[in-house]
Amino acid sequence: MTLNKGNLKRAGVAVLSCLLAPTMILAQELPPTDNPLPQPLPQILTPITNILTGLPNLLTRARDLKLLVLSADGTEPSLAAIKAILGQLGTPYDLVILTQTGGKLPKLEDWSKGYYQGIILATGNLATCTTNPCSLALLPEGWLTLDKYAVSYGVRILSYYTFPDPRYGITWTGGVASSGMAQFLPAAASVFPDLKRTQPVPVNYSYMYFAAPTPAAGESTTPFLTVDGQIAGVLHKKVDKREYLALTLDHNPNLLHSIVFGYGLVNWVTKGLFIGKRQAFFSPQIDDVFIGSDLFDATKAECRPTGFIADPTVDPSGVCPFLRITGADLDGIAAWQDQMNSGQSGNIKVNMAFNGIGTTPAGGALPGDTLTASAKIHRSKFFWITHTYDHENLDCFNPVPNSGVCTPATNAQSLAEINQNITVAQNLGLVHDTTGMVTPNLSGLNNPAFLSAAASKGIRNLVMDTSLNPNVPFNAGVRSTHQSSILLIPRRPTNIFYNTSTGFNFLAGSQPDEYNYFYGPNGISRIGGPGGPPFFTTDQTHAQIINTESEAIIKNMLRGEVYPVMFHQANLWRYDGTNSLFTDVAGAVLSKFRAMTNLPVRSLSLTATGQAVTDRMSFNASGVSATLAPGLTLTIKVSRSAKIPITGLCRSACEDNGGQPISHFSANPLLPTIVLLPQL
Ligand SMILES: [Zn+2]
Repeated sequence: MTLNKGNLKRAGVAVLSCLLAPTMILAQELPPTDNPLPQPLPQILTPITNILTGLPNLLTRARDLKLLVLSADGTEPSLAAIKAILGQLGTPYDLVILTQTGGKLPKLEDWSKGYYQGIILATGNLATCTTNPCSLALLPEGWLTLDKYAVSYGVRILSYYTFPDPRYGITWTGGVASSGMAQFLPAAASVFPDLKRTQPVPVNYSYMYFAAPTPAAGESTTPFLTVDGQIAGVLHKKVDKREYLALTLDHNPNLLHSIVFGYGLVNWVTKGLFIGKRQAFFSPQIDDVFIGSDLFDATKAECRPTGFIADPTVDPSGVCPFLRITGADLDGIAAWQDQMNSGQSGNIKVNMAFNGIGTTPAGGALPGDTLTASAKIHRSKFFWITHTYDHENLDCFNPVPNSGVCTPATNAQSLAEINQNITVAQNLGLVHDTTGMVTPNLSGLNNPAFLSAAASKGIRNLVMDTSLNPNVPFNAGVRSTHQSSILLIPRRPTNIFYNTSTGFNFLAGSQPDEYNYFYGPNGISRIGGPGGPPFFTTDQTHAQIINTESEAIIKNMLRGEVYPVMFHQANLWRYDGTNSLFTDVAGAVLSKFRAMTNLPVRSLSLTATGQAVTDRMSFNASGVSATLAPGLTLTIKVSRSAKIPITGLCRSACEDNGGQPISHFSANPLLPTIVLLPQL
């Protein structure tokens, strides 16, 4: 072990390797490269179905809790967006790509029930340009079949991206735009009950058509959304009681407005009762608590990383400025947390990933160390989780400095790292999340000796990096192949770096200096890799960085993501006597999120996150289906046991989620779960 700076243990450059290729971390709203760009629509009107009469009334007939999603040719960016939203919620749907079915619909019903509770059209006219000229991909009889089903079953239709069309009670004003500020009209209350609707939502990188309400006689068209004062969203009712919702702006899965609106649209088209759920979480994890960190220093080459992946044996031998937070900094986080929870539903509780050596004389803590004393005081205020005793890389254990030679930790070394830290937690009386662990630099995840040691100590939840594992399904994790009792949980990195501590420029630990060093006009990280354009053409201010970083976190909260978010101890330093980089970002996250939505925000321990991830993986594998007999029963079936969340229904111990209930039903394959409904 190499100790520096008056023998203080340092997280140092080795922590660099827990950061990743910067293009993977940067989550700002750049023109999306990983998703299709929003695009104009072929301006083709659909066949108008006038008042449908003489149809059977099937309003009380059973129907599956499943959506029908129709796509013209599968290439629509809006299709990618609605698939992402339904996937996040866990709401079952059938996707039909009409160019692959010869323009035909699937069967919508049989003698006993309807197959769908709602219909989503990726675009309002389902037009495709795979033909020349462009054409409607749904045959005329298909439009009529959809309309009849909607009338008979009282099922709603969402047109997600619409060229204004009398079918939706609107015509085109001739106006278009690709950005603007979306604002809610009073009718939005019925569409977006989850939103506060007082704040405009910025719309970017999205083609849109402005619409004028033109309902036919007896019909109604009620605008609920404008962009820069022009109508971009309407509710439309036909004389025969068909209900449409049409948005005239495009979407893709990473655009803020698509993420903000997504939940409400699904809630609307299902009439507020659907399989799946969306809850809001913010579970920050602070690594390296009790030890110190080398700081970024623009004036010293050794303290300006040339990239994010570093040789774990590199040791700059204490040339960089060094910071270990004090008791007053930790007191500040406790006070901030109280302030964030004051008068709010939900509960914010920071996870502290600690290295016990930092509390001992061997780790450099002086007698009367204020940080250790503060940790004792706040023993139950935070979730405390082990980050090993002395922050050794478990894949490169205690290497000869700068040798480039790594030896993985043995079982005995791993046990010692875990046991020694447990002893510190016990001595300090920390309320310890004993089944979770954050490994230094996220090392050890493929080290069988470490994993066996961790499993033997009852550790069930470890974190891994989201960007190294991009194909993990939403809110799922990965079971360790070496130890099946251990779940690997993705964790979100941020661009608040481990080695930054201040929002001011030109100081050691300057967050804006390091951010611009990577992403500014001359930044070493470029879009698309070396030689590409910079991420920003002007240096970013601290306020801009906080805005960008908080928005990336908010998007994941709006999606309902449960994963923890990574920060480091230097980020807790009160750089102006009051604020820290962490409270800057986390404060912006919470104030903006709460200004936007009614959802309570909760923090989870890693163990609780592991339970949520495990439940989601069981749900994903359950093959769930449900059938609603309106006013009578909801029947849930699964092929594998799982806890099934249903939004819009309150049964024993249902949760209130910002005014909407969520119930969980333990379903098994042997017997359907039958829920009795109140008579409507
Ligand atoms: Zn660390």
